[in-house]
Amino acid sequence: MPGHKPIIDNNISQRALSAYLGLAIGDALGATTEFLTPNEIKVQYGVHETISGGGWLHLKPGQVTDDTEMSLALGDALIKSGGVSAKAVAESFSDWMRSKPIDIGNTVRRGIVQFRNTGRPWVDENEYDAGNGACMRSLPIAILYVNGSVDTLIVASRTQAHTTHNNPLSDAGTEAALEMCAAAMKGEDKSRLREIADRLVDNHKVFRFDNRRIENPSGYIVETLQAVFQAIFDNDDFESTLIDVVNRGGDADTTGAIAGMVAGALYGQSGVPKKWLKRLDPFIVNRCKSQTDELLKLAAEQPGAG
Ligand code: MN
Ligand code: MN
Repeated sequence: MPGHKPIIDNNISQRALSAYLGLAIGDALGATTEFLTPNEIKVQYGVHETISGGGWLHLKPGQVTDDTEMSLALGDALIKSGGVSAKAVAESFSDWMRSKPIDIGNTVRRGIVQFRNTGRPWVDENEYDAGNGACMRSLPIAILYVNGSVDTLIVASRTQAHTTHNNPLSDAGTEAALEMCAAAMKGEDKSRLREIADRLVDNHKVFRFDNRRIENPSGYIVETLQAVFQAIFDNDDFESTLIDVVNRGGDADTTGAIAGMVAGALYGQSGVPKKWLKRLDPFIVNRCKSQTDELLKLAAEQPGAG
């Protein structure tokens, strides 16, 4: 075709895949130190930098938790409906809960139970729903709308988020993380990601991340993203970003997962250490690969793509 060029180029594909694998790697690496303090980590591991399993969930090395599993469940729903349908997303989360996951957050469980009881695939706004559970699973939205407008990304993000978490801080933080992922997949550099993080802080001062190093980040979206942003902006490669954030303990599988998706998109395939990739559960690696392909195929068909 004259003038035809692929809408999704190779660079975007390899960065999208690295974001997905980065998410799974951060989850598997951080699950070992979840709920430990930095001091406890130091005593037990020195510096924790091996995907070794264990942790409070007694994982096998390379096993992932709800962060990666729910991302895959979201991705399945997007692929099945060719876009974002709240009902399809809630159904997919419900199927996932039926599989008796190794871990599930309380807010997530409550949203899914409400959907099962009422058929309504969204929860009411709640000031206590500012956990990181909507953000940790959101990556497939950034892949599907990588070439879409920010407004499209925001609408899609809220649709998936509100199946379980309906809170302005959760929304704003999740949207910033997705915008960072989409920008990085398109080859934007770290200064662009910094602008996105700074804009979040301008709009919601509580996210300020410049004054104190966050140790023991909780599951509160604000603390989670403060730790993630500090790790992203204080380090210059994928490996040191992830080692930094998971050694802060706290909700380390989730800070690892979110830092992993942003850093994976930012540094691309060459940045992801082979030693970590080799350790990841091969079933999960394959799921991440096939889902990235399917989502990018759909991305090329979205209105406004290209
Ligand atoms: Mn988890
Ligand atoms: Mn977690």
